[in-house]
Formats: sequence, structure tokens, C-alpha cells
Amino acid sequence: MDLKELYRDVILDHNRQPRNFGPLSPVDTSADGHNPLCGDRLTVYVQLDGDRIRDVHFDGKGCAISVASASLMTEAVKGKDRAAIRHLFDEVHATLTGASEEPPASLGKLAALAGVREFPARVKCASLCWHTLNAALAHECVPVTTE
Ligand code: ZN
Repeated sequence: MDLKELYRDVILDHNRQPRNFGPLSPVDTSADGHNPLCGDRLTVYVQLDGDRIRDVHFDGKGCAISVASASLMTEAVKGKDRAAIRHLFDEVHATLTGASEEPPASLGKLAALAGVREFPARVKCASLCWHTLNAALAHECVPVTTE
């Protein structure tokens, strides 16, 4: 399957049926993210187990890319510790911006986000959930805006 097919299939699937969608209770930390360029608004809810994410959910409204990216992210970061999540975010960011030509195999389904490269204006849609998760993990329970 080439990256374009992967992009189309994975983004459509996760937009139609977002995984881990809806609030989480109890919640240890959460954050709101807003991408004013597109109008995407997400809230990320996190349950922590020490340094590790025990469970993570999101809700909100946004375009297909922001919703699919958040859905993919919740699946990818569940059970991981902060260092692993930082590493994953670096790989996702490099994939989104085209800094790495081929997405690393460790990305799994997140490699589909490489398709966003063809739409530079949508990179912020795809990265919104990650910035929001970072804000939640930093215990900054204030609205964040993607840079
Ligand atoms: Zn968007």
C-alpha cells in the first residue's frame, strides 16, 4: 500500500469512527487546543499512572485531519511514558513537515500522516492534538494554539 492510499484509508476510517472519543473520568490532566486557521477545537483527557499514560481520550470538533490525527494519537500513546511520547512526537513532526523522507517504521499507522505534507496548510490540523497532549502533560490547563 503506498502512502497516498494509506493516508486516504486511515484518515477516512479514523474520521468516521474516532477511537477513544469522549471525556474520560476520572481525569488526571487535560488541555484544550485550538487551531484558529481551520477552526479545530480539541480537548485531550489523560489518566496517568506515574510517568505513563494509562488512558487518553479526546473530544471536540474539527476537520477530518484534526479528528483522525487525534484518534491515531490516542491509540499510539496509550501505555507509553513521557520520554517515548516525546520521541514519537518528534517522529510525527518530522513526518508531517517532510524533514524525514520515509516515515520511520516505528510510526505504524501514524505514518499515514505523511500524506498531510501535500497540504501544508493542514499540518497544524494534524499537529494540534500533539500540542494539546503536551500541554496536558505539562499540567498547563490553559488553552493552547498551534504555532
Ligand atoms: Zn483542521
